[in-house]
Amino acid sequence: MTTNYPEEFQGFGIVDKDDWLHPKKINFKPKEFTPNSVDIKIECCGVCGSDIHCAKSDWSELSHGQVVGHEIIGTVAKIGPDCNTGLKIGDRVGVGAQVFSCLDCDRCKNDNEPYCPKFVTTYSQPYEDGYISQGGYANYIRVHEHFAVPIPEEIPSELAAPLMCGGITVFSPLLRNGCGPGKKVGIVGIGGIGHMGVIFAKALGAEVWAFSRKNNKKEDALKLGADHYVATMEDEDWDKKLFDTFDLVVVCASSLTDIKIDRFVKVMKIGSSIISITAPSREEKLVLNPLGLLGVKIGNSGIGSVKEIKTMLDLVAKKNLKIWVETIPISEKGVNEAFERMESGDVRYRFTLVDYDKEFK
Ligand code: NAP
Ligand code: ZN
Ligand code: ZN
Repeated sequence: MTTNYPEEFQGFGIVDKDDWLHPKKINFKPKEFTPNSVDIKIECCGVCGSDIHCAKSDWSELSHGQVVGHEIIGTVAKIGPDCNTGLKIGDRVGVGAQVFSCLDCDRCKNDNEPYCPKFVTTYSQPYEDGYISQGGYANYIRVHEHFAVPIPEEIPSELAAPLMCGGITVFSPLLRNGCGPGKKVGIVGIGGIGHMGVIFAKALGAEVWAFSRKNNKKEDALKLGADHYVATMEDEDWDKKLFDTFDLVVVCASSLTDIKIDRFVKVMKIGSSIISITAPSREEKLVLNPLGLLGVKIGNSGIGSVKEIKTMLDLVAKKNLKIWVETIPISEKGVNEAFERMESGDVRYRFTLVDYDKEFK
């Protein structure tokens, strides 16, 4: 069963890697439609820090015409014959940073799809047949049905979009590391993901510290629900004052160059965890003082499973949580504005590209 949609998709792709700030409107071929595929007509898409890393070739060289975007909300437009998750044409769904996994290995069977060796990210990664995935700054996307997640009706699309990557990226480590009542939790880096981290950690019942490099986000962080605020580059001796405080710290910054992990080690309780979700440029290295690691676990985390995404969406709907989003109509101008402002840190705290129906007629 299908509704009308084009054979070629349209999106905003980076055609000149030296001018990545100005993606151009292009046509591109979607991947082959398989029996488990669904096509989604996109309504809006969040702008993740990863879009910037990818667009500016921080991680690897870009392929020509790469379309980024992996915080996608849209409606189901076409369903493959073997799809059995119950999706129907017209259902509102979200797609995050993953569009494929084998669904058959131990990791997939235990709700760890993000760690499947056959993981395909929503953009810039080849499928097994060589097709390089294209993201959500486009009119349509084609994904494996497992990764199209129904969105509760209580959540408006522009607020649901950033949850699909940014939200789940911080929600999963909070969930897996015991964030809850009676726990002291720090969120480091108050950007798109970090601001959602503050909201979620508070909603899960923890006492929350927002860590930012400077003092300029203090008022916002407290409004978001943080109980305490630390400016790591301005407050003196914060690590001495907070000695032995935290059960969990989740690092949500886009780079670790201004973050001294060794100082965070000092504020952790014995047996507690520092989890980083940072995915910085490939040149960046994590340097640790080996004698500074005193009974603290340091780990990392990648997005979250579909099961965890559903848990997060339920929590957001039930508690009526509101992340802070600024919308920008999608167009060459709009994508450029979002990229420029993300680059300069001028975002409070997530952009969602909207008005797809006006741009893609
Ligand atoms: P963002 O909105 O650009 O926020 C990044 C924040 O990092 C900034 O607001 C800033 O916070 C802090 N920061 C910036 N430059 C820094 C530096 N040089 N040193 C220390 N802190 C710095 O980005 P985002 O969308 O939240 O994404 C954050 C990171 O998560 C990116 O690296 C992204 O690629 C990664 N990511 C990972 C996963 C995963 O699965 N692990 C998934 C999605 C995204 P303050 O001003 O408060 O200091
Ligand atoms: Zn697998
Ligand atoms: Zn992302």
